[in-house]
Amino acid sequence: METDNWRTNINDYTLVVTSACNSNCIMCPSPEYARRKNDARSYSEIEEEVLNMPDNIKHITVTGGEPTLLGKNFFSLMASLSERQRLVPVLYLTNGRAFASYEYGRLFVANSRESDTVAIPIHASNSALHDRIAQVEGSFAQTVKGLKNIALSKACIEIRIVVSKLNAYDVKQIVQLIVGDLPRVTVVNFIALEMTGNAAKNKDDLWIGYEKAFVAVKPGIELLLKGKIEVNLYNWPLCAVERGYWGMAKQSISSYKVRFAQECEFCSVREICGGEFASNRFGNYFAVKPVGGM
Ligand code: SF4
Repeated sequence: METDNWRTNINDYTLVVTSACNSNCIMCPSPEYARRKNDARSYSEIEEEVLNMPDNIKHITVTGGEPTLLGKNFFSLMASLSERQRLVPVLYLTNGRAFASYEYGRLFVANSRESDTVAIPIHASNSALHDRIAQVEGSFAQTVKGLKNIALSKACIEIRIVVSKLNAYDVKQIVQLIVGDLPRVTVVNFIALEMTGNAAKNKDDLWIGYEKAFVAVKPGIELLLKGKIEVNLYNWPLCAVERGYWGMAKQSISSYKVRFAQECEFCSVREICGGEFASNRFGNYFAVKPVGGM
C-alpha cells in the first residue's frame, strides 16, 4: 500500500504505524526490504503518538506498510483517534485483506465514524491479475470479501486503482465490478505510478505513460459518474489529461516530492497543476506540454 498521504495541506497528519506489509505489490513505490523488515511499532508507542498529536490538525492519514498488521489494536487506534481527535476526519489506507475475516470486518463497522474513510486498492477485475500484481495468492478474494464485510460501516469507502501497463486494459472491467458488485463505494481514485521502489524495479512491465493511462481510465470514469460515484485522478500532470477532466486531477503529490520541468515555467496552468513525482521527473518519463494562455 502506498504510504504517501495524497494530500498536501500543512494540517494533515500522517500516522505511519509500520513499514511492514503483508503484500508485495509489483508497483509499490516502497522498496521490498522496507515491507519485509519486522519494524512494527509497539501499540503503546503509537498510542503515545496519538496522545501527543498537535491540536490544530485538520485531517489524519493512518498508513503503513499495512496498518491492519496491528491486529485488534487497529480498533484500539480507531477508538483512540475518535476520542482524542473527535472532529478530525481520518483516512485509513489498507489493502483490506484483513476485513475478509467476518469478526475483523464487524469490528471495523462498530468503530467507524461518518467522518472516516477507508481506502482500499483493487488491481484487477479477476483474481489471476490482481493476485499477480499484489504478489499474494488469494488476495483478490480477500479484498473483495473484506469490502463486502465493511459495507455496513459508517465510513466512506474509497477504491484506489493504480494504473499500469499490466491492468490498463482491465480498468473498465474493474469499474464494472465496483459498480455492479461492491456496495456503498463512494469514491474511486485513479492513481498514476510513482516510479520508486518496486515500481522502478519493474518499470518495463509497468510504465504506461500518463496520456495512455488517461485514455485507459476514461471509459471507467464515465461509468462511475453514471453510477453517481465521485472520481479523482491522482498524480497526473494536467497536460496529460483531456481538458474536460481537469477538475478531477488533484494536486495530490506531497509538497516535498513534487517537481516541475523547466518548461513548466511557461505553462499557463502551472499554479493549478499537480506536477510529477520527483522520481518520475528525474527519470524523464514524460515530455511536458506547456499549456498556452487560458
Ligand atoms: S506543462 Fe508542466 S505545469 Fe503545465 S500542465 Fe504540464 S506538467 Fe503541468
